[in-house]
Amino acid sequence: MTDLTLLTLAEAREGLASKSFSSLELTDAHLKAVEDARTLNAFVLETPERARSMARAADAKIGKGEGGPLAGIPLGIKDLFATEGVRTTACSNVLDAFVPPYESTVTSQLWRDDAVMLGKLNNDEFAMGSSNETSCFGPVVNPWRRAGSNGAIEGTPLVPGGSSGGSAAAVAANLCLGATATDTGGSIRQPASFAGIVGIKPTYGRCSRWGIVAFASSLDQAGPVAKTVRDAAILMRSMSGHDPKDTTSANLPVPDFEASVGKSVKGMKIGIPKEYRMDGMPDEIEKLWAQGADWLKAAGAELVDISLPHTKYALPAYYIVAPAEASSNLARYDGVRYGLRAPGRNIAEMYENTRAEGFGAEVRRRVMIGTYVLSAGYYDAYYLRAQKVRTLIKKDFEDCFAKGVHAILTPATPSAAFGIGEKGKADPVEMYLNDIFTVTVNMAGLPGIAVPAGKDAQGLPLGLQLIGRPFDEETLFSLGEVVEQAAGRFVAAKWW
Ligand code: GLN
Repeated sequence: MTDLTLLTLAEAREGLASKSFSSLELTDAHLKAVEDARTLNAFVLETPERARSMARAADAKIGKGEGGPLAGIPLGIKDLFATEGVRTTACSNVLDAFVPPYESTVTSQLWRDDAVMLGKLNNDEFAMGSSNETSCFGPVVNPWRRAGSNGAIEGTPLVPGGSSGGSAAAVAANLCLGATATDTGGSIRQPASFAGIVGIKPTYGRCSRWGIVAFASSLDQAGPVAKTVRDAAILMRSMSGHDPKDTTSANLPVPDFEASVGKSVKGMKIGIPKEYRMDGMPDEIEKLWAQGADWLKAAGAELVDISLPHTKYALPAYYIVAPAEASSNLARYDGVRYGLRAPGRNIAEMYENTRAEGFGAEVRRRVMIGTYVLSAGYYDAYYLRAQKVRTLIKKDFEDCFAKGVHAILTPATPSAAFGIGEKGKADPVEMYLNDIFTVTVNMAGLPGIAVPAGKDAQGLPLGLQLIGRPFDEETLFSLGEVVEQAAGRFVAAKWW
């Protein structure tokens, strides 16, 4: 039999429907791939028993013609999603061996649709990071490697991006047919771009946040990473939908996103924001962007120059809003309710010891920044000001959309994947700059998709980002498909 892990989700769906193979066979092939790829450190927990029993149940349903839209499809789940009876840690020591007594809404919808869970995926601690290096389980290794000058595979291990680094690496290495991810400032799109796969951050409110470990509640949004635009559309339909348990969840019907894949983009107006052309932008990113614009034009779209004047304030404002919300959300990890407890002589000391021991350096930094900008004397100067900037950023986009722009094209990241340990050691801001093209989208609550579009001089994948109108992910799937068709798919050479 051919290697079932090389199939796309859509192809696997077809194979299952035509009984070319069973979900159990498909699941076993992926479990074996997961085992063989442990050097990548993409999974922090493998759940083979559960996977097989879910696969058997899916096979029974498929046999009776009763399988859901994801029947028998093996997926990986970011360890930020609470999974009932299965350890969920957000890759933080503070959660220790926490086993939730409940299931997140997004994952419960995947199981409702008969998908199969292979295990839990690595991520930056509490989703804070751009390289998956802040995880208490250690870094994830990107399946992609730099090509040496002689064309040989060079040894430097690369980061897969973050915070959804495990999700991106697992999909790129064919360990699962798709994965859940979350995006607060770029954590779906940046790793997707570093791993040569597709990732979409839906509009804020499209997917329920209930049961997802909170980072910054007004920015957090779940979404899929997948091998193709079509696969992402299939997954997103299952993940989306109104949830009364999340007050910010949008009460809107969920479109059949897959139907938008392959739809004509003729006559669509695509904005090219001049503020994204930053000083010192690498030539290859500039070229990739121009190439993407040409592809969309060739498909019948119209390119228009636009201005998003407050872009330059997005990153600084994000690094006030996100830590502020994080410091509040993370107050619950006190050694009483969840996971780790480090004893002390009294309760205050126990809190302190637990939080000092349980949180990693990046998380502690965010809690400190967050409490500072929210404190009585500084609230107006920092937090309130950042919120005002946020409103202006949102308005920039609204003005463009009001002028008839359907979507905006930008690079997804300022570079390709970098080496493990290469960035952010001396200066954390160096790491924060990874999200320069993605944070505005979270600040404005808009949908954004990252699609692989080319490679850098070292043979590493680079992505383009398309930003859409609120709740118009459909347009992004249509445009993303145009880029994917033109660029072709990117598959990492297996070395692990
Ligand atoms: N890299 C950004 C941060 O560290 C975004 C992370 C995310 O989207 N979860 O905050």
